[in-house]
Amino acid sequence: MKIAGLQKFSLIDYPGKISAVVFTRGCNFRCPFCHNPELVLPESYAELYPPEKIFQFFDKRRNQLDGIVITGGEPTLQDDLIDFVKEIKKFGYLVKLDTNGSKPDVLEQMICEKLLDYISMDIKAPFDKYDLVCGVKSNPENIQKSIDVIKKSDIVHTFRTTVVKQFLDYSDLIAIRELVGDNQKYVLQNFNKSGKILNSKLKEIEQYTDMEISNFQKFISEKDTIPHIQ
Ligand code: SF4
Repeated sequence: MKIAGLQKFSLIDYPGKISAVVFTRGCNFRCPFCHNPELVLPESYAELYPPEKIFQFFDKRRNQLDGIVITGGEPTLQDDLIDFVKEIKKFGYLVKLDTNGSKPDVLEQMICEKLLDYISMDIKAPFDKYDLVCGVKSNPENIQKSIDVIKKSDIVHTFRTTVVKQFLDYSDLIAIRELVGDNQKYVLQNFNKSGKILNSKLKEIEQYTDMEISNFQKFISEKDTIPHIQ
């Protein structure tokens, strides 16, 4: 596993749980609004953690943490992700996976092997804008397959979109909502200009207000009967 970051304590990354967050290095997308260039751009790569240090940490904190969040970068690109999660499970932790949904076969295998307790998948855009928003040539079939595999599973899950005004308007959010389907947890997240981002020009351009995002969320969630959690 190429692990380039470890957040030892979080109350927000795994809803309702106390977690630690593992950041994997490497991503097949180049979202201009990405806040983790050191995990995405080879020329900016952060140094790797020795795996034994990570496992020592998991062992030490097993009575203090409920779960481990694996995020990136894109974790499903890691060849040994499945073995890594199996090791985490030996410590008794819950596991949450954050993914961009580009590797449905990996997701499917992890679901079949009951290795995941929570999945959060980012849906970047409606398919006609996917390449623009994720910054590379994408594969919509894989994205749709990941959505379907997650929906069919009995694992707690959330679909999420980061909303950048330059790329997405209300009609795009409605289109993504249709990809996800009704009665799914689908949350919007406003683009945050602070910190490092892949394309720094986005910092200069006007973005939606939090109130606008909150109104979008209200409208696209109208028909749902389940609560929406971040
Ligand atoms: S925001 Fe985009 S580029 Fe950044 S880690 Fe996620 S999928 Fe990769």
